[in-house]
Parts: sequence; C-alpha cells; structure tokens
Amino acid sequence: MSKKYIATPSKTKEILNKYKFSFKKSLGQNFLVDVNVLENIINHANIDKSAGAIEIGPGIGALTEQLAIHADKVVAFEIDQRLLPILEDTLGAYSNVEVIHQDILKADVTEVIKNHFKDNQAIHVVANLPYYITTPILMKLLHDRLPVDSITVMIQKEVAERMAARPNSKSYGSLTIAIQYYTYAKVVMTVPKTVFNPQPNVDSSILQLELRTEPAVQVDDEEFFFGVVKASFAQRRKTLRNNLTNYFADKFDKAKVDVILQGIGIDGTRRGESLDIEEFAKLANAFYQETNQEN
Ligand code: SAM
Repeated sequence: MSKKYIATPSKTKEILNKYKFSFKKSLGQNFLVDVNVLENIINHANIDKSAGAIEIGPGIGALTEQLAIHADKVVAFEIDQRLLPILEDTLGAYSNVEVIHQDILKADVTEVIKNHFKDNQAIHVVANLPYYITTPILMKLLHDRLPVDSITVMIQKEVAERMAARPNSKSYGSLTIAIQYYTYAKVVMTVPKTVFNPQPNVDSSILQLELRTEPAVQVDDEEFFFGVVKASFAQRRKTLRNNLTNYFADKFDKAKVDVILQGIGIDGTRRGESLDIEEFAKLANAFYQETNQEN
C-alpha cells in the first residue's frame, strides 16, 4: 500500500482545507511540499534510527513525519497554537513524536534534551526555519551550548551564504565569525521557491552546521571578541585601523591602535573582510590585554 506523505502538494492542500488553515506571514509559515528535499535534509543531518531529532516549527508536520520515520525520537517546538490539533491528527500514527507548544526563543532546550532523550544519544537539530528569526534562533542554540551534534536548517540563501562564507568574499562578516566560532558551516544545497506552499519571495539553502567540541579559537573574553569583530566590519570600506580607532575612541588614539596592531603583525591598512578567525582572535586578545592594563 503506498502511503501519501504530508509533504506533497495534494495532501498539504487537503489538510489546509480540512482545518481551514490560513497562513500567518508574521510567523514565517512556508510549508514544504516536496519529499525529495526533505530526504536530502535528513541525509545531510546524519539522522538514523539511533538518533534523536529536535525540530523548530513543525507546521503541519511535513518534516516531522520524515524525521519520525528516520529517527528514534522527535521533539518539535511550535509557537502557533492553531497547529496543535492539526499535528495531533497528521502525526497521530507516529508514537515517537512529541510536540511542545512554545516559542523556541524562550525554551529551555537543554532541559528538554535532558528529559526527552536517552543519555549519550546523538542529537540533531533539523528545521525549515521561520525566516524572520533565523539568526536569533541559531545564535540562541549556539550560545546556549546545547549538547547536540549538528544543526541542519533550511534558511534564506543569502543568510546561509553569509554564515558559511570565506574571508575576502562579499558575504563574509561578523555573522560568519559568530557561526564559525562554534561550528563548521557548509551550504549543502540550494532549493527553489517552488517546493514551498505558499512560495516565499526569496531563494533558500540548506545549511549544515557541525558543532565543534571546542570553539574555533581561544579568546580571553567572548563578548569583547565579538565586539571587536563587529567593529572591524562596522564600515566595510574603511581600514581596520580606522574602524578600530572609532571603536576604541575613548581608550586609545590612532597611534596607540597602530602600535598594538604592529605588535601582533597585522597591517592596519587591511580591511576587516581579509582577516580570518585566528587573526580576529589575536586582534581581540591584544586589545583586551591593553584595555585591562589601562584600567
Ligand atoms: N516544518 C514545516 C515545514 O517544513 O513544512 C513548517 C516550516 S515554516 C517555514 C516555520 C514554522 O515555524 C511555522 O510552523 C511557524 O508557525 C513556526 N514558528 C515561527 N516562529 C516560531 C517560534 N518562535 N518558535 C517556534 N516555532 C515557530
């Protein structure tokens, strides 16, 4: 007997009609209607029958269903109350799925992992993210230092490119460094608009983040480090020494900024976009030490 998955245009339409569901644009509701794309996401997420999966925003259950089939257990966070009875219906046949009605930005995901998954189980975050809060969601998951192995997400193509960018490219910036500090980032596939209902205005990509066991670089103070990185890109066309002189205006004059840069062998006439993450760490640590000496 062939089974009709939720992630087909006809089944999705049937469910939406049955519940007279109207999409909320403000919640980034674009549902996937292509099983092949979902299988691709699941393969890249390294999901197998021993793994646990965390999903953000199950919608009517298109990806959740595939995760239920391929993983040991799925826990999904959904903010839209109207979707809960629908999910009970569409995923009723899968006993290994739990839906939590909560805003992911407010959830204690570490506690949920402790309570819902086996000790030492590999856990993967997999999601077709609501595009209006992609970066806050990913930064929260990374800052919280969740005990998960990977995060594989469908997001806006341009944002995925920024997160996985290399130095000296247009997409490279402070977001790149923030993501690569915690993970190895890779864009694994671009996806056309036609696989969604309703179709979004932007193209999408699947981004795979493999979590590092230790941050990419050692920094004296994380907040200070991210502040220096942001400052280095503040005005992309300006030199490093100009951006840093502005940022540290109340602490160091231009001559002192040059001395600090010379001390670590970084040419102040370079632009922020040419520095790799190791150089940013060196830069931030040098300024951090100087700042502390001044105090
Ligand atoms: N996973 C489904 C799919 O692929 O068809 C739906 C993906 S849709 C792009 C995003 C989903 O995230 C919607 O179901 C939306 O209601 C939900 N959502 C939006 N903001 C959320 C938040 N802060 N916390 C949890 N879920 C959220």
